[in-house]
Amino acid sequence: MKVLKFGGTSVGSAASIRNVKNIISEVSGNKLLVLSAMSGVTNELVSLSEMLRNRKLEELPDRIEILRLKHYDLIDELIAEASYNLSIKKNIALQIDDLMAICKKEWSKEVDAKIITTGERLLTSIFSAYLNFESVENTLLDARDFMHISNLENPDTGLVGELFNESLKKAKESSIVITQGFVRLDAERKLSTLKRGGSDYTATILGAAIRATQIQIWTDINGLHNNDPRFVENTHPVSQLSFEEAAELAYFGAKILHPQTISPVIGKNIPVYLKNTFTPGATGTCISAIAEKKGLKAISAKDEITAIKIKSNRMLMAHGFLKKIFEVFDTYETSIDMITTSEIAISLTIDDTSNLDLILAELDHYGEISVDTNHSIICVVGEGLIEDRGSSRIFEILQDVPVRMISYGGSNNNISLLVDTRNKIEVLQKLNEKLFVHQLNSVNS
Ligand code: ADP
Ligand code: ASP
Ligand code: MG
Repeated sequence: MKVLKFGGTSVGSAASIRNVKNIISEVSGNKLLVLSAMSGVTNELVSLSEMLRNRKLEELPDRIEILRLKHYDLIDELIAEASYNLSIKKNIALQIDDLMAICKKEWSKEVDAKIITTGERLLTSIFSAYLNFESVENTLLDARDFMHISNLENPDTGLVGELFNESLKKAKESSIVITQGFVRLDAERKLSTLKRGGSDYTATILGAAIRATQIQIWTDINGLHNNDPRFVENTHPVSQLSFEEAAELAYFGAKILHPQTISPVIGKNIPVYLKNTFTPGATGTCISAIAEKKGLKAISAKDEITAIKIKSNRMLMAHGFLKKIFEVFDTYETSIDMITTSEIAISLTIDDTSNLDLILAELDHYGEISVDTNHSIICVVGEGLIEDRGSSRIFEILQDVPVRMISYGGSNNNISLLVDTRNKIEVLQKLNEKLFVHQLNSVNS
């Protein structure tokens, strides 16, 4: 079975959905389709949930009504036959009524999850109905029956696989199976999510769970680019990446992939293809076990990073000191991304600040603490990067912009810089010049 994931823009309009139908008809064999909500819908649901949380209830009914009409319009464009059109609208109306009912409850994490995952349920219902209308047999499965993910960082894909197969056995047989991205049940079997952008992660968790032959992630760009196309001009797609390279780029901010996307397939040898729904013929990116080419591949940036410095002239080099520091972060289940040490101080970064106050209170015993918020990690990635002399140009950036931390040599594939987020775009653009444009010019001259 192949897993095909289509993101928000790929299912954002009737024309795009027709396009998706053509793409899947060209893919041979059994297919599991993981679908997102229509683009913009999850953002709207997140803001409805915020309104409920803040008890700003006046606008809620009208805003939910707009969502109903948006999905009705989609049905009208896709399904011309009157009685079928009406029956699908009835199904959507029930889901919208559910949403309205949830929005009358007290806000809780579970209520939040119910609200913000509604977009995936609405869209998959319409998509499945549209395929039926076009005489394309398919089976719609409810992701809540098998996406039981207690540990967000380390999903039990064995369990997900068993539950998925049980669901499949109960359903009618079909070569096209459809399910919702983003959704999960947590350790208490309560509805939750895989965090924003999580449908990519759904695809690779399911791919690993069912031992798919390949995973295709369809989006609105020709694969993973060598730099963030939102901030840098003249970026280009990278045709091949190893799992490790792609995992670093996703984790350190390449928005095309949810940060955890690659982890379920590492060591499983299931290739992941990134493809453009709007130009399906374009090569895109193939992520697999091999790094075809050594050297620099791409740059990404991860925002909302907090740097913590612990300065202690007595204890730092005493053995056991670092262990104690790490234990504090471990206690609060907060992972550390970058770390540098000197004789008297240690600096490290975190992105999850939900327990920052508690962490700082404990660290206070060990020395003088300072905290810098609003930083970005700029991550330069490529197999064997640090053996490549050309990569020394990365450090020319020190002439232009203050750099708070540098991580070099942790792995052969990655050099990371920590900068103030206000300087992020300048750093991305300058590194692009130094590492890619400069390199191309010297090859061409
Ligand atoms: P989807 O809705 O299909 O999940 P996303 O919006 O999450 O799509 O991801 C695709 C977008 O990611 C692209 O349109 C692009 O603007 C952005 N992006 C950021 N960094 C990169 C990168 N390095 N390569 C490709 N796209 C990137
Ligand atoms: N719809 C969800 C989001 O916008 C999940 C996804 O699209 O990946 O975050
Ligand atoms: Mg996405």
